[in-house]
Amino acid sequence: MAKPASDRPFRPATLLVRGGQMRSNLDETSESLYLTSGFVYDSAVQAEQTFTGEAQHFQYSRFGNPTVQMLEARLAALEGAEACRATATGMAAVSSAMLSHLKTGDRVVASRALFGSCHWIVSTLLPRYGIQTEFVDGGDLAQWEAAFKRPCQMVLIETPSNPMLDLVDLKAVCDLAHAAGAVVVVDNVFATPLLQKPMKFGADVVVYSATKHFDGQGRVLGGAVLGSKKWVEEVLQPFIRNTGPAISPFNAWVILKGLETLHLRVPAMCRSAAAIAQMLEERAEIGRVCYPYLASHPQYALAKQQMTGGGTLVSFELKGGKEAAFRFLDALRVVDISNNLGDSKSLITHPATTTHMRVSAEERARLGISDGAVRLSVGLEDVEDLVEDIAAALDVVAGNPAPKKKPLARMVVEESVAPAPKKPAARSRTRPAKPGPAKPAPRKTAAKTRSAEPAAAPAAAPEPDLFAEPAPRRKRG
Ligand SMILES: *Cc1c(COP(=O)(O)O)cnc(C)c1O
Repeated sequence: MAKPASDRPFRPATLLVRGGQMRSNLDETSESLYLTSGFVYDSAVQAEQTFTGEAQHFQYSRFGNPTVQMLEARLAALEGAEACRATATGMAAVSSAMLSHLKTGDRVVASRALFGSCHWIVSTLLPRYGIQTEFVDGGDLAQWEAAFKRPCQMVLIETPSNPMLDLVDLKAVCDLAHAAGAVVVVDNVFATPLLQKPMKFGADVVVYSATKHFDGQGRVLGGAVLGSKKWVEEVLQPFIRNTGPAISPFNAWVILKGLETLHLRVPAMCRSAAAIAQMLEERAEIGRVCYPYLASHPQYALAKQQMTGGGTLVSFELKGGKEAAFRFLDALRVVDISNNLGDSKSLITHPATTTHMRVSAEERARLGISDGAVRLSVGLEDVEDLVEDIAAALDVVAGNPAPKKKPLARMVVEESVAPAPKKPAARSRTRPAKPGPAKPAPRKTAAKTRSAEPAAAPAAAPEPDLFAEPAPRRKRG
């Protein structure tokens, strides 16, 4: 049975492997996957008491599920938060955190540099419900101060920001926001809880897309909202319970297993990202390189103050604009073109034509997203292979010959999705299926078994005979 709980505080690596596990009475090693929508009660009284809150019992997986609860407990322990609720996606986490708290007449202030869908929620969705919103340049404290001259109920910050890795001073903005009476929500996806703990600087709520580094292997979507027990239970939980952004227990289980290696993956990705950032600074084809732990980053001192690593993303600008950026992306042989991030596979995107395509050119310019800017999510490949791939692609941009074909993996996939051969001619379909030697039907159901011969003119499609042997495959040609 379960070992007695330890009262020593554990370090992140231990919490990521063991935090939140609930073993069943079968003593399984790994976290169990409770793939169930509902739960049963021993008695009507137990059901009643569960609904009144007198008894603790799972009711329905929209409200709570043991596998999901293990994920929530693990994330809360890692973050140092009192409570957590997991959601189906990162956007479900952001929208639930905001919509559960806000009402008509409230006001929201957000940093301008936000993930595209977060920007849409603030700029487009909230105003539809009579919530006023205002964007500020996240790095400019004077703008935050000015924005807090009027009442404000919620602040949304992303740091480092997508895609240009600008930082917001968490301590300074949280202090200003609290003085104005606002709850501060921090989207901490780019930093991960291993590199930055927003609550240490005063954040009230932290949100994640678990799709990114938590799974980290490109398999499932997920999200999480963390906060105080009071806020989560009184504000967030009723919203989640009644609007239904619940995560599938299967996805929660995949993310639980992904978390077990987070403390190995993220530092390794950071080391490679720092090496690539340094290498990029040496290249003549590149203008600006954005990486929080480069001494050339304008907020380097702040990065060192509030983060414990530079992160797994590097953004940089090709001097030759969009044309050079496209040639660079197309010349990469290891790094894939994809708008996802935080994956074990290195992925690169051209924000101006993909993730930030819907942002106006004027706003893009304000965010520093030029037509030559690209965002690289550094994965777990050997850093030498990544550096060589990037250097060779930059040689192509500089006018040197293109490297050879993509690796084999790509070609195999292309073959397997080749168009299927045409179906045999209609004539062969009219041929009656040859009945196989029918298995003797069990006595009880004998009366129900049918002949395998198709009826001359069936009124409806015949029911499949569950006991008949499958018809032999027709040979082609
Ligand atoms: C991906 C991402 C989100 C949204 O997460 P989904 O799981 O895709 O819904 C929100 N914020 C940031 C910073 C992200 O990178």
